[in-house]
Amino acid sequence: THFGFETVSETEKSKRVYQVFENVAEKYDVMNDAMSLGIHRLWKDMLLRAMHPQPGAQLLDVAGGTGDIAFRFLDFIRVKQEQNKRKSSRSMQSPPWQEISNSYFSEDGDMFQESRAVVCDINKEMLKVGKQKADSSRISAGLSWVVCDAEELPFDDNQFDIYTIAFGIRNVTHIDQVTEITGIHNYVFIVLGEKNITFLLFIFLIVISTSRGSPGPEEFKYMIEDAGFSSVKYHNWTGGVVALHSGFKL
Ligand code: SAM
Repeated sequence: THFGFETVSETEKSKRVYQVFENVAEKYDVMNDAMSLGIHRLWKDMLLRAMHPQPGAQLLDVAGGTGDIAFRFLDFIRVKQEQNKRKSSRSMQSPPWQEISNSYFSEDGDMFQESRAVVCDINKEMLKVGKQKADSSRISAGLSWVVCDAEELPFDDNQFDIYTIAFGIRNVTHIDQVTEITGIHNYVFIVLGEKNITFLLFIFLIVISTSRGSPGPEEFKYMIEDAGFSSVKYHNWTGGVVALHSGFKL
């Protein structure tokens, strides 16, 4: 069944996860809206408010699917950037460094690199839909799309400031491997995950149909700590339907 009552092998699980998302890729966004009554948008907005990225931040969005988190991330940065500009133009005459368009500056004039978001997902069909959305809305700048497995990320250490995995942790086969990998890197680890299975049977069919044996929020918190993160916290949202975990690694 899709509800996790039979025993399936790990290979079988990853094959099924792949097939489910390959089949729904084109309809994924519509289904997500319909099944969550649009609430997933609020959760994703809340994730960005909790993350509060600064201009220059580099994001790796794992299991990023059709790019919702990455789009919000770049949008948040753009708005922040405009606010900073307005603030500094009120407080002083434009200094010469503001002429350099591709770099960003803090309020006290320190230079940042440009913000980037890398969306990685094991399923190229999901990424394809995301990329098409980005291209048609002309928001491709700063975005990259990479097909890869959350358990074997192909990136060098310390390339990213923020790591997110939203509604993806249930789908991976070895959760401990995912947290260990992020532990090696210098990531802030933010997870938006689902925990209330009964309710999710109703609202997130895709997740349920692919999830098995995922940890509860407390257990997952310990796993993130074991992977070397500190100040690990979680918040339950919407009566515990989803939980946001965060932690730091310096
Ligand atoms: N993060 C997106 C969102 O919030 O809309 C997509 C979430 S969707 C429920 C789960 C995604 O996890 C799918 O796009 C699926 O292909 C991806 N996925 C599943 N197993 C994965 C793995 N081992 N590595 C990377 N991505 C994986």
